[in-house]
Order: sequence, then structure tokens, then C-alpha cells
Amino acid sequence: MITRDNLQFYVRTAENCNLNCKHCFTSGRNGDPSVFNAENTSNYIQKIVKTFNVLNFRVVLHGGEPMLAPISELNCFIDQLQSIPQLNSIGIQTNLAYELSEEKLTFFNNHFKQYGIGTSWDADLRFGLVDFKSKTKVLKLWENNVRTLIENGHNLTLSICLSKYLIDHFEPRQLIEYAIDLGFQNILFERITEDGSAITNNSIRPLNLHLDRWLHKMFIQTLENQYEKRINNLFLGELATSYISKTHTANRCRNCELSLITIGAAGDLSGCPNSAKEVTWGYINEPISTPLSSSNRLNAICKEKIRNPICEQCDIREICNSDCYKLPWQDKICAAPKLIMKEMKRNNNINDYQRLL
Ligand code: SF4
Ligand code: SF4
Repeated sequence: MITRDNLQFYVRTAENCNLNCKHCFTSGRNGDPSVFNAENTSNYIQKIVKTFNVLNFRVVLHGGEPMLAPISELNCFIDQLQSIPQLNSIGIQTNLAYELSEEKLTFFNNHFKQYGIGTSWDADLRFGLVDFKSKTKVLKLWENNVRTLIENGHNLTLSICLSKYLIDHFEPRQLIEYAIDLGFQNILFERITEDGSAITNNSIRPLNLHLDRWLHKMFIQTLENQYEKRINNLFLGELATSYISKTHTANRCRNCELSLITIGAAGDLSGCPNSAKEVTWGYINEPISTPLSSSNRLNAICKEKIRNPICEQCDIREICNSDCYKLPWQDKICAAPKLIMKEMKRNNNINDYQRLL
């Protein structure tokens, strides 16, 4: 039981990280220092593609921090992937909070100009940012790396992590304009799931009610300022797709556990990358069907299919599709951007939102 079209592999090339963020689903600097084995990992991907007659797939290099793996191993992995005809694209999610050496820059230039690079940002958790006037050393390093990659012709996506501090202290327009000024082509907004370090650091997550209001403000400010002409907003694009075509992608696909395989550095397998450390199916060296039919995987598939009964009564459920199942509800309040979807439905003019696609 696996998705044959658009299968996605998240590969944790390194288990730990150079940072130690409170919301991260890995254990940051304190994590396991192991790195992946390129050959074993690509062989496993090849085996899955062949066994299930996969039509096309994408690989995302993930971590920890994926660039902590040796560049020689990363190069070898990408070369092997590129020999599989069903490969669609390769992505990378990197924190860029390290020295961008000549070797690393060459690696990005050789492999990612055609695919793009993703990097995350938050105010307090990663960069210790209080306001834009007092930038920390690590933030300046990150900004320099972003500029260097953009100067080298890369297409960059900024993922803004929606911590409580960020929502309480920053206006959406400040962040969107910051991303535009730095030269990002895409922006998205990530909500924090209850995994990894975020389980114990519960206070970093905003109230769902406040999150909803902030995201609605982001929507209004985007339309008023026509930011979509200057930066592609993937969060709003996903909502506009759901509203206009009634198809659900990314956060609201409710199909991640079937269409996603996360491969850890030690060859451990799981689904959603956020809970990969806690919900393991097995290992790549086991018979192929053993991890895929493990009770952990089957439970996760079932959990993702089950909706909160409140969704049945919800007037925007055809747009929302009950959102990502990993996002915790607070009492009877879900973490979905309800105000945006309600406004789209109330306005009922598809043309108004075409420009967000
Ligand atoms: S289940 Fe949610 S957090 Fe996990 S990959 Fe899917 S959308 Fe992302
Ligand atoms: S907005 Fe909330 S209640 Fe409504 S369908 Fe989405 S998750 Fe369910």
C-alpha cells in the first residue's frame, strides 16, 4: 500500500544539527551524530520504485541539518538518484546557519539551481531576534548565505515558523517584505506540530485562535499590498487551490502517511517526517514488506484518515479537508486558518483568488 504517483522520500542525511531549536522534531545538537550511507539509501529507494512500479517520485534532503553529511556522500547520493528515470525532483531543506564554504556552494550550484532550496526562519527560536533593529550574529550569517545563493542564481523558498513569539511581535507584512527584500522567490508559513522538542517546549506554540487571526491578517495584507506579484505565497496558494479546484494538496491532502517515506540516517523508516523519531516502521535492510505493513505505519495511516467529528459540522470542510492531522486541537478549536477559508467562501468569487495560485 503506497502511492505510485508523486511518492515523496524525506532523507535525513544527518541526524543532528548545528542549531538547537526549541520547536524542532529532531534533538538538535544533542541528537545522534550519525550520517547516512548514500549507497544503501539510494538502493532502497530504487527497490521501492521498482517493486511498486512507482510512476514518479521526489526526494527531499532533510535532517537534522542535511549539510552536516559529507559532501562526497551527498554528491554520490544525488548521482545515484539521477540514474533512476522516475525521479521527478530533488529538494533540500537547510538552515543556512553555517559557513557557506566553496565546497558547499559548489554542491548547491551543481545540483540545486534547477530545483530550488528551502530554508526556515523564525524570530526567537533560531535567531534570537527581538526586532529587526538588533540582528544576532547567526541571523547575519544566514542573511549573507541567502544573498550569496541568490547572487548565484538560486530560487529560494523561505519557511516562516509560526511561534507564539513571532505571532505576538511581528506583523505579517514585515516578514513578507523582509523576504522580498532579501530576494526570496517563495514564502510559506509553517505551523508547529507537537513532535520532538516541541513536546516539552509547549509554550512556544501560539493559541490556535491567535494563529487563525494572524494568518487572516497575513491574507488581508497580501491582497491589499499585492504581495503575490512580488513573491509566491505557497501557504495562500494551497488554500486558493483548495477553494478554486476543490483538490487538496500539501497540508490538507490527508494522504501523507501513504505518499511519504522518511529514511533516517541509520536506515530507519517512517512516514511524516515530523514524527519520524517517535513512530518508526522498521529498517531499510528488512524485507521490503515488513516495515510497510508494520502496526506503526498502519496506525498512522488510519489516524490520518479519521477526522474530528466537529469537522463534519464545519461549513468550510470542503476547502479545509480537516487540515494536517498532526496539528493539535486546543479544546474544540482546530489549528486551521478558518478565517481565510470563511472569507473565501463568503466572497464566493473565484476570480479574486486566481492570482494567489
Ligand atoms: S502529516 Fe502534516 S506535518 Fe506531516 S508531512 Fe503531512 S502535512 Fe506535514
Ligand atoms: S476548519 Fe477546523 S473544524 Fe473546519 S474542517 Fe478544518 S479542521 Fe475541521
